[in-house]
Amino acid sequence: MPFRESGYHPYDFANRRHIGPSPSEMAEMLRAVGEPSLDALIAETVPASIRQREPLDWGKPLSEQGVLRRLREVAGKNRVLTSLIGQGYHGTVTPPVIQRNILENPAWYTAYTPYQPEISQGRLEALLNFQTMVCDLTGLDVANASLLDEATAAAEAMALCERGAKSKARAFFVDHHCHPQTIAVIRTRAEPLGWEVIVGDPFADLDPEAVFGAIFQYPGTYGDCHDFGGPIAALHDAKALACVAADPLALTLLRPPGEMGADIAIGSTQRFGVPLGFGGPHAAYMAVTDALKRMMPGRIVGVSIDARGNRAYRLALQTREQHIRREKATSNICTAQALLAVMASMYAVFHGPDGLRAIAQRVHRKTVRLVKGLESLGFRVDQASFFDTVTVEVGPLRDVALRAAVAEGINLRAVGRTKIGIACDERTRPEHAEAIWRAFGGEMRDWSLLHEYRLPENLIRTSPYLTHPIFHLNRAEAEMTRYMRRLADRDLALDRAMIPLGSCTMKLNATAEMMPLSWPEFADIHPFAPADQTRGYAEMIADLSAKLAAITGYDAISTQPNSGAQGEYAGLLTIRAFHRARGEAHRDICLIPTSAHGTNPASAQMAGMKVVVVASAPNGDIDLADFRAKAEKHADSLACCMITYPSTHGVFEETVREVCEITHALGGQVYLDGANLNALVGLARPGDIGSDVSHLNLHKTFCVPHGGGGPGMGPIGVKAHLAPYLPGEKDGAGAVSACAFGSPSLLTISWAYCLMMGGAGLTQATKVAILNANYIAARLSDAYPILYSRAGRVAHECIVDTRPLRDSAGVSVDDVAKRLIDCGFHAPTMSWPVAGTLMIEPTESEPKAELDRFVAAMLGIRAEARAIEEGAMDRADNPLLRAPHTVEDLVGDWDRPYSREQACFPPGAFRVDKYWPPVNRVDNVYGDRNLVCSCPPVESYAEGEG
Ligand SMILES: *Cc1c(COP(=O)(O)O)cnc(C)c1O
Repeated sequence: MPFRESGYHPYDFANRRHIGPSPSEMAEMLRAVGEPSLDALIAETVPASIRQREPLDWGKPLSEQGVLRRLREVAGKNRVLTSLIGQGYHGTVTPPVIQRNILENPAWYTAYTPYQPEISQGRLEALLNFQTMVCDLTGLDVANASLLDEATAAAEAMALCERGAKSKARAFFVDHHCHPQTIAVIRTRAEPLGWEVIVGDPFADLDPEAVFGAIFQYPGTYGDCHDFGGPIAALHDAKALACVAADPLALTLLRPPGEMGADIAIGSTQRFGVPLGFGGPHAAYMAVTDALKRMMPGRIVGVSIDARGNRAYRLALQTREQHIRREKATSNICTAQALLAVMASMYAVFHGPDGLRAIAQRVHRKTVRLVKGLESLGFRVDQASFFDTVTVEVGPLRDVALRAAVAEGINLRAVGRTKIGIACDERTRPEHAEAIWRAFGGEMRDWSLLHEYRLPENLIRTSPYLTHPIFHLNRAEAEMTRYMRRLADRDLALDRAMIPLGSCTMKLNATAEMMPLSWPEFADIHPFAPADQTRGYAEMIADLSAKLAAITGYDAISTQPNSGAQGEYAGLLTIRAFHRARGEAHRDICLIPTSAHGTNPASAQMAGMKVVVVASAPNGDIDLADFRAKAEKHADSLACCMITYPSTHGVFEETVREVCEITHALGGQVYLDGANLNALVGLARPGDIGSDVSHLNLHKTFCVPHGGGGPGMGPIGVKAHLAPYLPGEKDGAGAVSACAFGSPSLLTISWAYCLMMGGAGLTQATKVAILNANYIAARLSDAYPILYSRAGRVAHECIVDTRPLRDSAGVSVDDVAKRLIDCGFHAPTMSWPVAGTLMIEPTESEPKAELDRFVAAMLGIRAEARAIEEGAMDRADNPLLRAPHTVEDLVGDWDRPYSREQACFPPGAFRVDKYWPPVNRVDNVYGDRNLVCSCPPVESYAEGEG
């Protein structure tokens, strides 16, 4: 046989991993779209006036193995020491069964936020377990399903105190023993809202009349454990509210905040099995009293019923607060930390209350031993009683001892000039205590195994927790594995089907990109480890930032924000700081088009800006005349405009440059929401178009998985003139999240993606994303009106109008969405940005076969609606209104005017691999009337649970 070249370069395979359609499929799709070539389609779609001149290029792409080698090399530049620094971050053991079956399992990490409850019952149950765990541990009534980190949760608590308190004071009190990063973020958040932050000793400096609320840390950052009952009662007398930031592991042994009278508790669940990751991602929690539940920010899982009356979980209405209330919203939280909350909840399910208590007791005993050893060496610790953290007075020896500890492989915390902080954790072993003693000048064995406790007598916990049966599995790994598998099987994630969510870019999260996350060199680094131990991280972050700058046309990148909405907030604060530095502090107007994502106005409000809404023209573009008029009217106080590009309607507006020019001419700055960057990478750069700042959603365009509602990363890019005002810079906006680099371990994913694709590969991905969207639009355009297309062309997503079916067949957009579940699909984005429509973004990752399956499903639905229109199908009892159908529908009596075959196997549905939703349609109204946000009592499990 003659030798024949394969015709492929190995790099093609790396790219092909991310690009769904094969070259021959693309040719077919282009024919369907009516274009001779991909480049011809792009030329028709993307206005020449915004195209970037230079192609994106940073050298050859790496193969998959090459990327892993490069990541190994960088990982090798991080040094993994044992960090006993504490300050809100602790070593923890991720149970392997959770690591493999949740963190490393695409069934969990590729899921979308559970807005479609019928296909999300598994993760909703896991998050409900999280809420129950938080309520139990904190002794409060209602918890949400995760917040971004402890510091931002504290800032949210401050805002909640301001809303909920009857006090008219304008100041917030912060315990001086709160973690420093918490205090920093609270200061940032308070400043634009005009609230004073008073930091001091709760037992000496708190004037309850002067504040609307206060936050105390428990145990304090240096290890002290106080009963805050007195200050809390005093706050309540003054009509102010009280929040306690609490360590959940400590709460297994110590009296919970709820029993001290606290209104709110917040904290981090990192030490419940979630790796340090140099600062994140981890889930923070918030719990409140019943009185505050309707005001609580973030996502809240509630219990409702389905069409059969069976129990079903769903997100409570207030979860969409920022989308509904927009500039009147009090919080902008959208993406949170769902996957990490699921991990923490599984840690609690796995260990149960006895296991958690045992872990906490062991940690405490180790701390006692360590302290006794230090005392026998002549040192004194500040705390007479403590949980796991102590502060040792060492005098002038501080730096010598810290260095000696590092030489022993242990990081400790420098406290003040003469003290050292030590926090023990689940991973601490006798060798660590011995090493610390050596570092402090003593050669001793870990001799004392006495069960001695130095917990504060007055704060010993007596109340039970985690009494619910779910926290009492029999502890066999077989049972745990099956529980997690059962929940995963209830959900529809990207590992089963395309999730065509407009604006949310549910694309491939390649396995190789995910693997480095679990490597100890990335996972086991404390956020406050010395810089010489984190050189690998520094190198990776610098290189990724350079690539993101090249992609966006900006000059500087901050990776601090850990969600898109937080990026918006950070970007707006950067603009604010810029105006202030120029003596233009009065500039506070933010122009936002009506079509903007709800987080935009919510973020502007939080940044102390006033939102002026700009109308949309009939074609969906920004109404330029209205924009100009409003900008000129507010010329003197114009801070910025906030636009989305391509627009939220999925179109490349030709007028974007003009919008930027008008804004600049009047002294304003341009914020371009970069969530739609998947339509731009390699083709156009926000920085060239005239924008000054953008956030990029790494969990959309750059392959960080959605995790069922987080984690995410929302780094911002800015032009050079704004760089000095970025968060963390000297003149900058102040810290927006707990860690300098947000959730840095996730950056490995986006970096691997950029390396594997190369500039040309990324550009090709953008083009194919546009092809896929146009293919769907072309295939569906006979059945449904496609809104806002330009000469039959859309950008990377298309809006399908289902409103005509309302009148003609009594079929709502909800019915279409639920029917898609029967077909084995997650619904597209519903009713946004246009009510009654579906917005579809297939992304470049989907192969033609999957696009065709989706098209078949959508055409099948149109055919069903037509049957209703024509009277061939019952208007009041049909598969659209009754969707989704479950296995329950296959058994028992059947009295419907359509067949079971038709019900359960519409076009698109697989026969053997059929996805069965575990519940019928979920009743949202019932759920909002009866807000139950923790695991229902056992008795209610008798029904409905197999
Ligand atoms: C997703 C999105 C956001 C918010 O991002 P989060 O990470 O969820 O906070 C903002 N704007 C647009 C247009 C988006 O699609």
